[in-house]
Amino acid sequence: MIFKPEKYSIPDKRMQNFIDPDEIWGYLNNTKPDPVRVKDVIAKSLDKNRLTLQETAVLINANTPELVEEIKQGAKTLKRKIYGKRIVLFAPLYIGNKCSNNCQYCGFRTSNKDAVRKTLTDEEIIREIEALEDNGQKRLILVYGEHPEYSAEYIAHTVNLAYSVKKGNGEIRRVNINAAPFDIQGFRTVKSAGIGTYQIFQETYHPDIYKKYHLSGKKTDFVWRLTSLDRAQEAGIDDVGIGALFGLYDWRYEVLGLIRHTNHLEACYDIGPHTISFPRLKNAANLNIDIKYMPSHEEFIRMIAILRLAVPYTGMILTAREDANVRKEVMQFGVSQIDGGTKLELGSYSENLNEEQDLNREQFHIGDSRSLNEIIEELLDNDYIPSFCTACYRLGRTGEHFMEFSVPGFIKRYCTLNAILTLSEYLMDYAPEKTKIKGWNVIEKNLQELEKSQNIAELKKRIERIKSGERDLYF
Ligand code: SAM
Ligand code: SF4
Repeated sequence: MIFKPEKYSIPDKRMQNFIDPDEIWGYLNNTKPDPVRVKDVIAKSLDKNRLTLQETAVLINANTPELVEEIKQGAKTLKRKIYGKRIVLFAPLYIGNKCSNNCQYCGFRTSNKDAVRKTLTDEEIIREIEALEDNGQKRLILVYGEHPEYSAEYIAHTVNLAYSVKKGNGEIRRVNINAAPFDIQGFRTVKSAGIGTYQIFQETYHPDIYKKYHLSGKKTDFVWRLTSLDRAQEAGIDDVGIGALFGLYDWRYEVLGLIRHTNHLEACYDIGPHTISFPRLKNAANLNIDIKYMPSHEEFIRMIAILRLAVPYTGMILTAREDANVRKEVMQFGVSQIDGGTKLELGSYSENLNEEQDLNREQFHIGDSRSLNEIIEELLDNDYIPSFCTACYRLGRTGEHFMEFSVPGFIKRYCTLNAILTLSEYLMDYAPEKTKIKGWNVIEKNLQELEKSQNIAELKKRIERIKSGERDLYF
């Protein structure tokens, strides 16, 4: 499938500001959510087409209960139709919280003099990763403040370290990073360490609002941040994640900002973002922020459903910022990845700290502090298949979300099977008895549903091989 660039997304605009607030507001103010048009737009998405800014604005402006319900149902259908039942699991690992920026919403900002600053030593990183492996984690996102200590070389070093730690049957098979933007050479350096996704959030796509929240440090430069993924692409990193911090500005504007960023990447590099994140602002140490723009629960669901429909090929990440019950409810409208067993305090995985969060040691308040196993149980209870799959990335099948979406049968042939294989490993190595029973029942049920699929005989053989002690088998 070929996406046609929208007229303003031309390659000579690389490395330049491509966000025009008037243009975005123009779509929001001038697009009518005629019910027939809403249905047509949903149908276009279900037919596996990325929506334009104007079509997305149609969905955003559709706010009657009936139309909102149609959008939610459309997103649900798309999720099940394209992505199947699996939910990919990962954990964040904060490496260092020193920071030279002054982002008003963040506990690590320079102006928060109460923040306890720390960078994990190599020994501490190893201990943290061993603890994460002991829980069954296979995929991490390493997180850093923006500070001269966290150079591209240092970040590459920590990524290499993460891959090198192996405890028992444990290993980290994919290391993503969320770090401040680099220059092109810096991106080359982190690429050479074998990072998975480079994730960066624009926070807000409105330049004036951006200015208001970013008071000092390198991050004051809206365009340097906005064009970071262009530099990443120039350095050969085509696996990138975008996001906005919801609550800083009007959610409707930010959704169109994310779509504008997506079509810029598609038009310039022929590849859209691998993931979209939509964190909502949470409490942090000594915050003083007006939260009039915080999306309500109902608006949060709407924006997830709209994003799902607008960019059907992209993975969508929902983090533990949200409460367990919110996560459970909104997941059905399009989420494909969640974190589990999340801890934000530096060093807390290995120290097994379970106390109340201390916001001077952590970036923000988390809503879902359940263990990985509790989350896996809930997924199993709700007919999802928890997955730790990293196959595409390791087989060089990059752009896998795009393949899942555009290659007929891809999910059934690869993703569901790999989800089952990685769940089998988890059940053998880390699950308590109760989870084991649930997990094998879910696998059995899915094997019956997959009975006519290609590779089913081989899948059964591989499950037996995992039961006899082999690991890391995938399609
Ligand atoms: N320092 C790097 C940067 O700013 O790009 C790494 C990212 S930061 C450690 C991860 C993300 O957390 C930020 O991009 C921001 O969107 C989000 N964040 C910061 N403060 C937050 C808060 N109070 N509530 C929710 N998310 C927050
Ligand atoms: Fe630093 Fe990132 Fe927090 Fe801003 S969001 S203060 S750059 S850690």
